[in-house]
Amino acid sequence: MARIVVLGGAESGVGAAVLAKVKGFEVFLSDNGQIKEEYLETLRKWDIPFEQGGHTPERVLNADEVVKSPGIPDTAPMVKALRAQGTHIVSEIEFAARYDSAKKICITGSNGKTTTTSLIHYLLCEAGLDAGLGGNIGKSYALQVATEKHDYYVLEISSFQLDDAYDFRPDIAIITNITPDHLDRYDHKLENYARAKFRIARNLRPEDCFIFDSDDAITIEQLGQIVIKAKMLPFTQEKEVAQGAFVRDGRIIVRYEDDETEIFLKELALGGRHNVYNSMAAALAAKATGISDEVIRKSLRTFSPIEHRLEPVLSIGDVLYINDSKATNVDSAWYALECQTRPVVWIVGGKDKGNDYSVLEELVRKKVKAIVCLGVDNAKIHAAFEGIVGSENIVDTLSAEAAVQASARFAAPGDVVLLSPCCASFDLFKNYEDRGRLFKEAVRHL
Ligand code: ADP
Repeated sequence: MARIVVLGGAESGVGAAVLAKVKGFEVFLSDNGQIKEEYLETLRKWDIPFEQGGHTPERVLNADEVVKSPGIPDTAPMVKALRAQGTHIVSEIEFAARYDSAKKICITGSNGKTTTTSLIHYLLCEAGLDAGLGGNIGKSYALQVATEKHDYYVLEISSFQLDDAYDFRPDIAIITNITPDHLDRYDHKLENYARAKFRIARNLRPEDCFIFDSDDAITIEQLGQIVIKAKMLPFTQEKEVAQGAFVRDGRIIVRYEDDETEIFLKELALGGRHNVYNSMAAALAAKATGISDEVIRKSLRTFSPIEHRLEPVLSIGDVLYINDSKATNVDSAWYALECQTRPVVWIVGGKDKGNDYSVLEELVRKKVKAIVCLGVDNAKIHAAFEGIVGSENIVDTLSAEAAVQASARFAAPGDVVLLSPCCASFDLFKNYEDRGRLFKEAVRHL
């Protein structure tokens, strides 16, 4: 019996371990840190041997194949040792796809993955199709392949999952956009990061679809260097395209094969220019899946915003509080600011991942009346924006509650208080969800 060793005991790894068990392999799971109780329960339930708090070389290096969780970098000593001895290492999606014949719509990119993935899943469900939702959202793909059966999967896929994918092939692949993020895992080279994302398209066949943002310079540059055999479906807000999606006269026009669909921009459930891109990508995927125009229009109209992504929280004294805690990089905050039509009190800051704030200067000048920093070290934010908003209109806070209270003092009726931090949350919070929830709680306490 072949021996599968799974590295990492969270959603992805535990799902892969269950699938390996179901498929009759000898399985062992090894985690360098502590495994969460819910995952320990699953491992016990499925009678899967495991270790935590370190990897025992004799129990890992004897693997026939290793499934590596996306959170483990290639520089980890155990990964290096496995590679040195030539052990085959795959990601969870590569492993799971071997046992799955469902049609797969797979979404990667720097920003907009979760929104686009959720939108497409909603569209498929509204059309009455049986679709699993997974990858980086919710239940792992592998666990679903092990324990459920679906005709379709809509999967959000990170570039780390793609790093160790070889034969994995979606039927529809989407790259939402590519902007610098996570460069630390790619030798600080944008080229490497972009190439990792394009691995999603490497096995596409002529009958498959590749959906991409043709307004995105990095995407276009990469496309110039590779050959993709699929039907190419760009989406753009800058020009008309013969196949794909574009904007004209207040409408999204979707052209797929001989068919054309129109969707009014003002009917889209999700606001903001970035969500026009996400809605176009979703509409194209839906069209390519054969979903009717009527269902596409209705679904894009009735979809509800996802938590922590430009999520309206409450309006208090005509000040609207918006939770965009998921905006952990400059690009996503750019879109959040760009779509505001009222004066903004902006809550920003956290763990800076090498941000270049200069791209936000113009928007801050136009839209932001005050800045509330929410982070341990806010020096870069002060340096970038103090000259624009004035030193009396920028303050430092160290908790969501203090940030909300400071914002309420700056805000006047008709304003927006926008938490769109541009930064990771680890300096003050467990994660971006924790930051968003504490923000919402503080707003409700006002
Ligand atoms: P991801 O899953 O890729 O992190 P999300 O859908 O969770 O993306 O959105 C994260 C944040 O990125 C949102 O809060 C929003 O401000 C911003 N965003 C969403 N879609 C896009 C897009 N197409 N382009 C740029 N920014 C976006």
